[in-house]
Amino acid sequence: MFTIQTLMAAASGLVLTSAVQAQQPDWALIVHGGAGIIERDRMTDETETAYRAALMAALERGEAVLASGGSSLDAIEAVIHGMEDDPLFNAGRGAVFTAAGRNELDASIMDGATLNAGAVAGVTQVRHPISLARAVMEESRHVMLQGEGAETFATETGQERVDPAWFFTERRWASLERSLTAQGLPLPPRPEGAPEPAPVEHGLLDQDAREHRFGTVGVVALDQAGNIAAGTSTGGTTAKQWGRVGDSPIIGAGTYASNESCGVSATGTGEFFIRLTVASRICAYVEFQEMNLQEAADRVILEELTELEGDGGIVALTPAGDLAWSFNTPGMYRAKWVAGEAPVVSIFGDED
Ligand code: ASP
Repeated sequence: MFTIQTLMAAASGLVLTSAVQAQQPDWALIVHGGAGIIERDRMTDETETAYRAALMAALERGEAVLASGGSSLDAIEAVIHGMEDDPLFNAGRGAVFTAAGRNELDASIMDGATLNAGAVAGVTQVRHPISLARAVMEESRHVMLQGEGAETFATETGQERVDPAWFFTERRWASLERSLTAQGLPLPPRPEGAPEPAPVEHGLLDQDAREHRFGTVGVVALDQAGNIAAGTSTGGTTAKQWGRVGDSPIIGAGTYASNESCGVSATGTGEFFIRLTVASRICAYVEFQEMNLQEAADRVILEELTELEGDGGIVALTPAGDLAWSFNTPGMYRAKWVAGEAPVVSIFGDED
């Protein structure tokens, strides 16, 4: 791969050291599947195994694109497609419900090479909101579409549409009932087309109560051309009201990517991430304060977000191939893979 360093070295007649080459991987990928009160002694072996397998599958989908020379944007889309279809995550199928008993989905994507970006909020019939966000970026003159207009645009651009019942899972419905009951709010009717009520595995329900509303998915990727991109997809927060939109579809808050600094995808209580513009703030520290990526991420998550009493985390990477994750919750579903190294899948706070 030709990097700025290789070109500069060639121009000045310097011989590149292997140390410089080693720092710049051919490609890299970092993924999250949400953060929260995720603790080893409270998670069943079965649930842990299922999440680890899902995160590994996400990495493999990204690796298949990046190792064969595909773009970081294609890798983001491929990874998030799989996670949007996996009911374990709060994105696409398996999304949490609003207080009115609907699944309203948000997503965004950003291209670090051009600073182009696309986002959608509050869509209810699009199987892959991340692809709709990409279509907004590539096929419209806007950055963010919401609600009905976004659905119309989905039809016009040939996105795969599904009945809203596609997104229904018993687990998230039970979480909604719990949450509304705890808040003294009325229960909405069971959505039309939802399957007959079924028992929910107790462990998963308990998991939801502790993870509270998280489970959003996000990816940042570096491709062999040296370009980074980031994307995020979510159902938002359980029992959200009045058309609430979180940080995930907001460029600069939940998602950001620039080849000049870094790419970030966030998960957590979106209100705090919006107020701090978490994703672009981390990249600004990298670009203008010359902080390394981990320092910048920890500064924003462990200090600034924590001071605001916000909770959640991020995954990030730079065009040079530095990777970082940071979270102030007990755990975060997360995984990374750098070309030439072994893939890493982690859940709990005490893992690497
Ligand atoms: N950040 C998302 C939101 O506030 C939720 C999450 O990450 O789980 O909508």
